Order: sequence, then C-alpha cells, then structure tokens
Amino acid sequence: MNRSSSYICVTLLGLLILLSGCHQSSYPTPAIPSADKNSTVLETSSVPVYQRMEKVTSPEAAMQLLLEGNQRFKAGKVLNKDISITRRTDLLRNGQHPFAVIVSCSDSRVPPEMLFDQALGDLFVIRVAGNVITPVELGSVEYAVEHLKVPLVVVLGHESCGAVTAAVEGGETKGSISAVIAKITPSVIRAESDGLSGNPLIEQCVNLNIQSSVQDLKKSSILKEALEKKQLQIIGSKYDLDEGGVSILN
Ligand SMILES: [Zn+2]
Repeated sequence: MNRSSSYICVTLLGLLILLSGCHQSSYPTPAIPSADKNSTVLETSSVPVYQRMEKVTSPEAAMQLLLEGNQRFKAGKVLNKDISITRRTDLLRNGQHPFAVIVSCSDSRVPPEMLFDQALGDLFVIRVAGNVITPVELGSVEYAVEHLKVPLVVVLGHESCGAVTAAVEGGETKGSISAVIAKITPSVIRAESDGLSGNPLIEQCVNLNIQSSVQDLKKSSILKEALEKKQLQIIGSKYDLDEGGVSILN
C-alpha cells in the first residue's frame, strides 16, 4: 500500500467513526417525562420528543393538533415519540384519552399515526378499505365518542384509492370484496351522472365517498346527540399520497 492509499484508508476510517458518533448523537435515548397534566415537547435531544398529556375536549383544538402534526409530517420534521415502558405503563394505569377518531382507508400508504405525527394514545383509528361505514365501523366510532369522549371524528380518504377505483371499473368481485364495492357504488353513480370519466371521475368518487361516510356517521343517534351539544365535530378529509398533505373537505 503506497502513501496515498494509506491516507485514503485512514480518512475513510475516520469518516466511519465520525458517522457512527453522529448516528448515536442524532438518536439518543429519549428523556422520559414525568406524568403531569401538560403536553410537552422535550428539547433534551436533537430530535424533540412529543408527548401529549392533557385531555383535549374541544373539536377545534383536536383539529389543530392534527393539522400541526400533518404539517410536520409533510415537511419531514416529525417528532420523536415516547414509546418507553414508562409511557406504556402510564397509559395502562391512567387509561387512554385519544383526541380524535380517524376512519381511514386501509391503504398501506395512509397510516394515520404517521401522517398526523401522533403518539401512543393519541388517535382512535378505524381502518377499512375505502373508508366506508358499516354498522361495525359505526359501532367503533360510537364507542369512542360515547365512552372515551373523543371530540373529533375524521373520515380520511385519499387520492388514487384502490377500492374506489375498483368500484369505478366495475366487473366481477369475489368473496366479501363486493360488500366494500357496494358501499362505494352510489358515489360512483353520482359522479358518473356528472359526465366525468378517467382520473377526474375517480377523484370525484373519492370525494363523494368520503362525504357519504360522513353522512352515514351523522345518522347515528349517539353521534347526533354529541353534535347537537357541540361536543363533537365530524369532518371529511383527503390525503395527497405524494405531497403528504391532508386537506379538509367541506
Ligand atoms: Zn384507499
């Protein structure tokens, strides 16, 4: 090995040691916060640790937390989450107090905790292909509102939804897939009556299907009561797969 080769080897070794050190300092063991009544972002590590401790009772505050979390996700600035045994034990002993119910499509690219940048105990999530509402999904939402006093329900659809696309394309469906398609078909018929076709038709079906699920939820007597008391809001939203943003549908 000549002198320049030795120099390169030493330099590479030094770089590896440096990178190894950087990795450790970038992801230190998160400080474990004590359980108090405030949410907090701990600045003790290079990536802050997010933890919500207070109960969120207002729909507006819950929506704000979701939108802020999605902004962090979209910007690639997600916070560390406390998943320590201390935190898990705290949630076990003190119970869960999620601040939002998310009825999301099962699509693997649409994980609510990730795209809203939320931690253990924050979201009560119901996932089903095409984010449709059947009595089973409705029962889960009613439980969260009635017993856990969750102030916000968000139906989360997304662009290029496979379930919606399948409903638009029609054709034979096997097994129980037809049960999902049947829930989406009324939205397809409505969108087709507007003369749409191709991708605009699919995206309009996605929007109508989200709104249809919102309307299905609003038929529940349990949810109606909470809505009338202003203790609850039910909203539709749509996730942009590549941009990473969630937009609210009116
Ligand atoms: Zn989908």
